[in-house]
Amino acid sequence: MKVHAYAAQDAASAVLPLDITRREPGATDVEMDILYCGVCHSDLHQAHNDWKNTVYPCVPGHEIVGRVSRVGPEVTKFKVGDLSAVGCMVDSCRTCENCRAGHEQYCLSFPTFTYNGQDKHLGGHTFGGYSTSIVVDEGFVLRVPETLDLAATAPLLCAGITTYSPLRHWKVGPGQKVGIVGLGGLGHMGVKFARAFGAHVVLFTTSPSKIEDGLRLGAHEVVVSTDANAMAKHQGSFNFILDAVSAPHDINAYLGLLKLDGTLTLVGAPEQPLPVSAFNLLLPRRNFAGSAIGGIAETQEMLDFCGQHGIVSDIELIPMQGINEAWARLLKQDVRYRFVIDMASLKS
Ligand code: NAP
Ligand code: ZN
Ligand code: ZN
Repeated sequence: MKVHAYAAQDAASAVLPLDITRREPGATDVEMDILYCGVCHSDLHQAHNDWKNTVYPCVPGHEIVGRVSRVGPEVTKFKVGDLSAVGCMVDSCRTCENCRAGHEQYCLSFPTFTYNGQDKHLGGHTFGGYSTSIVVDEGFVLRVPETLDLAATAPLLCAGITTYSPLRHWKVGPGQKVGIVGLGGLGHMGVKFARAFGAHVVLFTTSPSKIEDGLRLGAHEVVVSTDANAMAKHQGSFNFILDAVSAPHDINAYLGLLKLDGTLTLVGAPEQPLPVSAFNLLLPRRNFAGSAIGGIAETQEMLDFCGQHGIVSDIELIPMQGINEAWARLLKQDVRYRFVIDMASLKS
């Protein structure tokens, strides 16, 4: 079935309209009309071939919220009319050690990502949420709390789970001093979750214009990271730091802020390697880690947590036609704090 979408045809051109083919729903498939799709910096990295693995045409989008329009005969979790959501993955092997443990994002056969993944059904590669509808096996479709604003919920499917998962894994909570680096889509969710989990939250930003927002979003303190004196005051004092920066930057400046056994976890995915000074890790015994999105069960847990605590993203709603301008602003760190596409603009 043909579906309207927006695609990048190569690494340099604008994103433009393209009709793509979706499969007819199979026995365990859910088809959903896409209402909103968040704009992740990964969409831009992928479309621009920053990670050197992009297959074109590339239809990005992995923060998808919609309404179920058709279900296969064996679907049990959803019925037509239900709210539904899809994040960064649409499938995995489901049998390996990591899948069985609920870590489908670390599937030993590699998960099928929502876009730029291998399409097991139609062949070719998968197309993401910059489109009017999508068909996904119900095992990878999430339930959306009815109480939340739907457009502001979309970014939870990537920015939300990518920050929630490491903060939970490293057991961030009361009595801990926690840093969040970079106030973009991921960073602002990191601030909200770290605050909700009871930590003392310090935001590091390169943008002085974001100080006020950082405090409003939940940070107890905001440090402008280009201010060497302000950075020096926090030396050796953090239990945990989450780095959500999209571009190359000096990681050693943040490793130095950790106390004994403290952990710096990278979720940002700059295209260039980040040099690490050995002595910044050795003294005093610090950990440098990484984390990718979260598993399906944990994504549902995060959505339910957000439903209970009224947590959503701070968004700027844009029409599909505004995507190229939004990407240009993302590259200038000018995002407050997630662009979300209103997919009604593509249907009309
Ligand atoms: P975003 O909204 O563009 O935010 C990135 C923020 O990083 C900016 O707002 C800015 O914050 C800071 N920044 C940007 N360029 C910088 C530079 N040159 N030096 C220092 N700071 C800079 O991006 P996002 O959507 O949150 O994504 C962030 C990164 O995470 C991307 O690389 C993305 O691909 C990656 N990601 C990873 C996963 C995962 O599973 N690990 C999932 C999703 C996304 P300030 O203005 O506050 O400095
Ligand atoms: Zn993403
Ligand atoms: Zn697997």
